Amino acid sequence: MNIDEYLFLKALNCPKYLSLDNSHPELKKTAKGHDNLRDKKKVKELAVKLFPGGVFIDKNLNIEERIRQTKELINAPVIYNAAFSVFDIFFTVDILVNNNGKFEIYKITHSSNPKDNQIKSLSFKYFCLKSLGYNITKALIVQINKNYQATQDKTPDLNNLFIIKDYTKNALSLLNSFNQAVIDFQNNFSYYDAGLDIGEQCFKNDCDFKDYCFKDIPEQSVFNLYKLSINEKLRLYKEKIVGIENIPEELAAKRNIWKVQKENKEFIDKKVIKDFIQSLSYPLSFLDFETFSEAVPSYYKQTPYQNIPFQYSLHILEKNGSLTHKEFLCTENKDPRPGLINSLINDLPSEGKIIAFNDKFEKSVIKELLNFQSDFQPGKSDKFDKLLSLNPRFIDLIIPFKKVGFYLPKMNGSFSLKSVLPAMFPNDLELDYKNMEIHNGLLAMDGYFRIKELRLNNDNLDTSEEIEKIKNNLLKYCKLDTFAMVKILQKLIELYKIGEI
Ligand code: SF4
Repeated sequence: MNIDEYLFLKALNCPKYLSLDNSHPELKKTAKGHDNLRDKKKVKELAVKLFPGGVFIDKNLNIEERIRQTKELINAPVIYNAAFSVFDIFFTVDILVNNNGKFEIYKITHSSNPKDNQIKSLSFKYFCLKSLGYNITKALIVQINKNYQATQDKTPDLNNLFIIKDYTKNALSLLNSFNQAVIDFQNNFSYYDAGLDIGEQCFKNDCDFKDYCFKDIPEQSVFNLYKLSINEKLRLYKEKIVGIENIPEELAAKRNIWKVQKENKEFIDKKVIKDFIQSLSYPLSFLDFETFSEAVPSYYKQTPYQNIPFQYSLHILEKNGSLTHKEFLCTENKDPRPGLINSLINDLPSEGKIIAFNDKFEKSVIKELLNFQSDFQPGKSDKFDKLLSLNPRFIDLIIPFKKVGFYLPKMNGSFSLKSVLPAMFPNDLELDYKNMEIHNGLLAMDGYFRIKELRLNNDNLDTSEEIEKIKNNLLKYCKLDTFAMVKILQKLIELYKIGEI
């Protein structure tokens, strides 16, 4: 059987993966929506420039041709996308450097911190090339330097943007295990274990077959138990304790939320809600940012993967119940931060609490905006001082949920806005994200980049239908995020007012 390296390494983690891929590829459900294609492409284009003068093997050619061309060009000083096959496994090397018959292999990643599976992949290439008889001296990863900061210069400083790390020791330490694995693979041992049960392997990486393998797990299962370790969840599962209602009393007694989950009914702790409501001061400003991040920074002082806000929604609730809405969205091809800062400090009331759901994120965005404005000093810039005054005013709407002041079984052990909202308002179409084209932060980021792309490709597209459509979808989505918070708080206030607390 001929397979590629990706599939082989997936099979190493879980033999059932290979079996399902072979027999039921239609069951595969790859992650929807955003992937990092944009970052991957840009990083690769730039990283190869660190190794000039090489020859490319065209990825669009068929496998045999790519392997043939690699063989033919093997004496070139640098080959990009070199292709090989050994043990019936096809693999490629991003950059192959030939120093007079001694080779170095490089894997390019758009990440600043390569994951175990990326190091494993590099190590596997090292093992395979050694098995083919190549003299490989080093296995390295070209990764993003997370401390890189963009300057005013539009062209990134590649020697600063990238870090090259040597993982040869990791590759050497895995040689024996790969050796055994390919022997097993060639003998078909255990590589087609279609009967393998749910286990640790399912939680190591996102698995494309998770929906299929978990199809018999009930909605309220031990896998949804809030903050219980994976090992503990698997231990319960192996003891055939699957539904939350079956978890042992002793375990449920250890955490209030586990007890509540086991009882599977609405739970209200009015004291928690009361404490939260009493800590509020009006006017209340419900704030939500949409941000983008990218591996290769585009704007001054931007760092890799920094969250750069391009949009916010703000609902302002007065004590008398009146509600107003303000918003900002940058859709031009320029740094959105200066415009956003001006708009934000104009729109936000100068007093009262600022409410966010899981406020760490909004506070970190404001902190980054302060760094961006650090040319100004406290007391010397009105703008800087106003920004500086925001973070201490935040209060996190997730608190009453995390403290189990209010719990509904439909929350399934998760207190994210996207779990709490439908559980609290199951039939309210006004609060339903499901039918929205943009319904999460990653899609919002994709929408933002799509507008940029459309503008770059044609400056006359400002009023094009597609841009207008994406703009409206972005505005609708972000507005719902803050409106949802208003509704959640109003519901908590209702609960607070019912009966005695
Ligand atoms: S969900 Fe788990 S058992 Fe199923 S293929 Fe993936 S890793 Fe294997």
